[in-house]
Amino acid sequence: MAAHRQNRPWSGDTIEHDGATSPEYVEDCYLCPRNLRVSGHRNDNYTSTFVFDNDHPCVGPLASDEPGPAPSIYRSRPANGIARVVCYSPNHSLTLAELNVGEIAHLLGVWRNEFMDLASRDGIDHVLIFENKGEVVGVSNPHPHCQIYATNFVFKTIENEAGTSMRYMNETGRILFQDIIQAEQLDGRRIIYENGTSIAFLPYFARYAYECYVAPKAAHQSLTTMSNSELLDFAEALKALVVRYDNLWRMPFPYVMALHQAPTDGRDYRGFHFHIEFHPPLRKPNLLKYLAGPEIGGGNFLSDTSPEEKAEELKSQSSIHYKMTTNTSS
Ligand SMILES: [Zn+2]
Ligand SMILES: [Zn+2]
Repeated sequence: MAAHRQNRPWSGDTIEHDGATSPEYVEDCYLCPRNLRVSGHRNDNYTSTFVFDNDHPCVGPLASDEPGPAPSIYRSRPANGIARVVCYSPNHSLTLAELNVGEIAHLLGVWRNEFMDLASRDGIDHVLIFENKGEVVGVSNPHPHCQIYATNFVFKTIENEAGTSMRYMNETGRILFQDIIQAEQLDGRRIIYENGTSIAFLPYFARYAYECYVAPKAAHQSLTTMSNSELLDFAEALKALVVRYDNLWRMPFPYVMALHQAPTDGRDYRGFHFHIEFHPPLRKPNLLKYLAGPEIGGGNFLSDTSPEEKAEELKSQSSIHYKMTTNTSS
């Protein structure tokens, strides 16, 4: 933590947000209903969510099987799998924060079905569901959607979390994430929202200024074992967080969101606890957190802000999305 530096002079880039709202349907959007994609496939005339195989998959059945022998000390192996896209809504102008709780719960059900379908396939060791949101994380199409990479390898962060959780379980007999939730509840200052079975908090160890986690309180390894009422509670916690994100600066709040679910390679993941992580790259409305010397050069994150202050900022936001209040007052 280096929160004392957060007001140091700054003369770098800023991110401008023009505040313009996009239309509900865009003719040349490859995610809008009925539109033709570059692959030649036409989107369904869908009315809620829509899932399709990614036309430009980073992993796919057409990937070359053998990368060729690796030279000298190097090693390599084929990376393959299935890549999909999930549209949250036919409405081009919405964000996750603007879906209602029922729609978010429906989306969670879609994620659960996709996870189960992909995990059951031969050679799929892991299913990563993630959303990149906003131009600052490289997404030019605002149509609300996420991606799924189902792969024959486990992504590194999940591998680390699984390994750490297992070590903690062996040492203490407890589930690490359960103890994290308990620590956050005992402190209380960084909890953004909590209901019967779910919790949203900005963790003590947050690296990004507004990094937040949403988790069921019970230790589910993935969405698959959550009951429908838990999914509904979870949808409420998710909504409560992302609405506050958007309200913070009255703009669609950019982030990288990732579902951290246990790998699907058949090993023992009793210590794993499903959660969603949000990594927002902005520190201020027009100020990116740059990864520089300490982070890239040294491998340690330098946080320029205090987690308690940032959590308080989020907590103090309205639970009603700013576009809703703008619409009703005008
Ligand atoms: Zn669209
Ligand atoms: Zn995680």
